[in-house]
Amino acid sequence: MQVFVTRNLPGGALDRLRGEHDVEVWPERLPPPREELMARMPEVEGLLPLLTDRVDAELIAAAPRLRAISNFAVGVDNVDVEAAAARGIPVGNTPGVLTDSTADLAVALMLGVGRHLTAGDAFVRRGEWKTWEPDLLLGHDLHGATVGVIGFGRIGQAVAQRLEGFECELLHTSRSGGVPLEELLERSDFVSVHTPLTPETRGLIDAAALARMKPTAYLVNTARGPVVDTGALIDALQAGQIAGAALDVTDPEPLPADHPLVQAPNLILLPHLGSATHATRERMADMAVDNLLAGLRGEPMPNQVT
Ligand code: NAP
Repeated sequence: MQVFVTRNLPGGALDRLRGEHDVEVWPERLPPPREELMARMPEVEGLLPLLTDRVDAELIAAAPRLRAISNFAVGVDNVDVEAAAARGIPVGNTPGVLTDSTADLAVALMLGVGRHLTAGDAFVRRGEWKTWEPDLLLGHDLHGATVGVIGFGRIGQAVAQRLEGFECELLHTSRSGGVPLEELLERSDFVSVHTPLTPETRGLIDAAALARMKPTAYLVNTARGPVVDTGALIDALQAGQIAGAALDVTDPEPLPADHPLVQAPNLILLPHLGSATHATRERMADMAVDNLLAGLRGEPMPNQVT
């Protein structure tokens, strides 16, 4: 069958796909432009997109032969899952295999922003390190801190598990349990976001939510950029309403270097690296290919969203 993969993937998973199907892999570093994606839709039967590719109702409608979509991510906010389901097209994702890598990064960001890792590094490189000073770049401890986990699923729970070793007091919230969001925001020294991006969670961390946080607290987002209101975060950081933030994901993505967020104080920015380890990306590729192979055979995908 005709398969389109929107970027080269690490490891040998794509060779397995090529073993069974006629596979085109988009060869560029940047995502295929919309018109390139649309141009392939009349013939494509299997689609393996990344989170940077918008698989919306228009794209799905342009693909009459499409039988399976396998997203190279656990989040499927880039795919119109309902439009796919209406056509009976299964959508796969890659849960679980990236949980630990993303949880590791969330903890790294808590330590990084709380202990000024990037600011300290920049300070040394600028030649400003003159002597040991009692009050140089003082931060806040993660050990013993109260940490609020918003979205207590696979990654949120993996973060909580790690923080037991730091003897943190853990709070969590999700629709099915935990403490009220307001209480979590008011009590936490670190707030870590782990919800999917849905209509309900878009802008969940808005000006009102940030206003509830302690002025000594940090916000960490390794979920999806639009869960945090970027403008409100810039205002909160500039006003010193919170102590800092560390973002693996931003709105927009990619974040242009001249975006006002880049100038905000006490902020660590990463280019969406949550699952970016060799082992994890290879496991994601294997899972995405397994999902697509199953979907094209007309079998249930090992990890199917709908
Ligand atoms: P998961 O196991 O499905 O957990 C998501 C959690 O969010 C669930 O506990 C869910 O609980 C909760 N939730 C959903 N809607 C909510 C709402 N409106 N308010 C509060 N909580 C809500 O997903 P996961 O595997 O942990 O992944 C979470 C997200 O992380 C993914 O969707 C993805 O966008 C992001 N992610 C980012 C990276 C990265 O590279 N930075 C890597 C992997 C994943 P209830 O249903 O009970 O509310």
